[in-house]
Amino acid sequence: MINAKLVAQSHANHQSVIQLSETVAFGGDELVIIGGPCTVESLEQMETVAENIGDAPVQALRGGVFKPRTSPYAFQGMGEEGLAVLAEVRSRYNIPVITEVMAISQIEVVAAHADMLQVGSRNMQNFDLLKALGQAGKPILLKRGLAATIEEFVMAAEYIVSHGNPDVVLCERGIRSFDTYTRNVLDLAAVAALKQITHLPVIVDPSHAVGKRELVAPVAKAAVACGADGLIIECHPEPEKSVSDARQALSLEDMVNLVASLKPVATAVGRKISNTNGVGLQPTPICRAA
Ligand code: PEP
Ligand code: MN
Repeated sequence: MINAKLVAQSHANHQSVIQLSETVAFGGDELVIIGGPCTVESLEQMETVAENIGDAPVQALRGGVFKPRTSPYAFQGMGEEGLAVLAEVRSRYNIPVITEVMAISQIEVVAAHADMLQVGSRNMQNFDLLKALGQAGKPILLKRGLAATIEEFVMAAEYIVSHGNPDVVLCERGIRSFDTYTRNVLDLAAVAALKQITHLPVIVDPSHAVGKRELVAPVAKAAVACGADGLIIECHPEPEKSVSDARQALSLEDMVNLVASLKPVATAVGRKISNTNGVGLQPTPICRAA
């Protein structure tokens, strides 16, 4: 028995639909596909991503600017400069953006630039952060901890909701196990279970689950088939040159092909993949003063 109250299926007795933007929502008929690099590296990089995958379609872009890196010597992200990149791409391409928040002190500035705040696996049980996100005023993408049980994951969501923010999307991204061939072990049973235990949307991150680009597409299809409300997939204009998680990054072409290949699977389970970004991805001309 999981002792959740507010996120429990029995509390709401419905499927929560969580708006990311006016036209993009998690938990409805539409599958939400989020794409982008592990790390925001430059404006040019993010523009290339938006131009090439926006019409695939993907419904949102993601790139990390505050990066939780295993080594303190690895690139830690562009920080606020990266947020400015995301804000620019968001407004020029009319597409929602998502990025990770690692500390309470980052919430305000990230919420001012992004449509959704990601809590990474390493922070899933950072309870003070979860409590503070209750007041973030933006939807939260909560990733499952590296070794978190389903109950711990559900209760982490309960922290955010009980502190005032009902808009939480769960993300299964694989858990640690004994086998190192794949980076983690994707727990698709958790996706099915979470959809039964809670009324929250559940998405899947096949990239961090498998850690190898050639395994991403088949696993993404399985996730859609078992009822995921969306996917978050890492891709990069030059995958081998990604500053982080290069081995799992898809090329932009592979990302477009993957989205196309998901359509029959989505249809089979009653989901749609639509270009919900409204005006498409023709960049808004930059107005210069005469
Ligand atoms: C990421 O999304 O780039 C990331 C670091 O993921 P996770 O927190 O799932 O390891
Ligand atoms: Mn990554």
